Amino acid sequence: MQIGILNEPSDLRVALVPDVIKQLIDRKNNVLVESNAGVQSSISNDDFQASGAEIKDRDSILQNLDLLISVTPPAAEVYAKLKPHALVISSFEPFNKPEVAQQLASTGVTALSLDMIPRITLAQSMDVLSSMASIAGYKAVIVAANHLPRYFPMLTTAAGTIPPAKVLVLGAGVAGLQAIATAKRIGGVVEAFDTRLAAKEEVESLGAKFVMVEGATDDKDAGGYAVEQTDEYKQKQQALIQAKAEKADVIITTAQLRGRPAPVLLTAETVQKMKSGAVIVDLASSTGGNCALTQDNETLDVDGVTIIGNSNLAEKVPMHASQLFSKNIFNYLKVFVSEEGELNLDLENEILKSSCISHDGAARYGN
Ligand code: NAD
Repeated sequence: MQIGILNEPSDLRVALVPDVIKQLIDRKNNVLVESNAGVQSSISNDDFQASGAEIKDRDSILQNLDLLISVTPPAAEVYAKLKPHALVISSFEPFNKPEVAQQLASTGVTALSLDMIPRITLAQSMDVLSSMASIAGYKAVIVAANHLPRYFPMLTTAAGTIPPAKVLVLGAGVAGLQAIATAKRIGGVVEAFDTRLAAKEEVESLGAKFVMVEGATDDKDAGGYAVEQTDEYKQKQQALIQAKAEKADVIITTAQLRGRPAPVLLTAETVQKMKSGAVIVDLASSTGGNCALTQDNETLDVDGVTIIGNSNLAEKVPMHASQLFSKNIFNYLKVFVSEEGELNLDLENEILKSSCISHDGAARYGN
């Protein structure tokens, strides 16, 4: 199979790293890499060539490949250059963009959406969402520390004692748990809140305090994802979060509802009551944000409170984000590319059934 990756200037990551390319070549595939595809992840053309990949220009890659792997969904003009029935792997977010499966189907490609891989034990090693969320949670704390006009850890010095930073994490899923662990490591005192009760034990096992609001709706059949809450619950939650937010130095928000706008957990009124110098990092900004004032991809100063809206912080750790992404891809490919490099696309397979969103000119999502 001819596998191609492109230079993606809009994202610092690259879809395959040399170690994984070697493994793909061992399994009888060829890998075509656009020149400078890895530069932003500190991987040179020479590194790719040493792994056995061929460096080619963009058009010849697109015309020759059977499978395109892309961190971000390719631009529309890419599809016109592909062979009929080529496969394209990316994160297409059909749950946020209902028209995307139909658009992909009209190009004739078989589109495999990484964010549709089911969150089952069997597929954990392919879970790009978790790999990237974990990096984002880590980086959110580092970014917050950079903006914070104070120390994170408690320090006792001859000039006096400095109390530790108070950190509030809203949403204790994959990103939130990594944010808790990172904030604890650098000396913060951490509290966290989630509507899923299962998160309580995980939060406490990291040494943070779980903020409990009684009466949450939890749906075990929602595939690990949170569900919308009742109005009564939201009011109780709002009051408690506001009380915690007023005392916080850093708030990291990660709460998402799949296919719906993110829940607003920090109102404008809450932000007004926060301490000057406090920092909010809102990882849910791309779906509206958990803070009412967040602007996606912007850093704001609201009366001394810094609000950073960024849902793609994983790319700011490009070397390791690319490494984990690439390894997830390799594990996913093992489902439908044989050790002899042959395609075996069984759409009845549980993992492919949910992640293949267009095939043979037909949309397979949202019909
Ligand atoms: P996510 O990114 O969809 O959401 C982040 C967190 O926000 C979740 O913990 C969610 O419960 C929380 N949240 C949503 N609405 C909220 C609200 N109103 N207030 C407070 N918190 C709110 O979720 P995620 O981090 O990708 O994953 C969630 C869970 O799914 C994980 O903790 C894990 O248990 C499970 N999971 C399972 C697998 C697997 O088995 N393969 C893989 C990944 C995750």
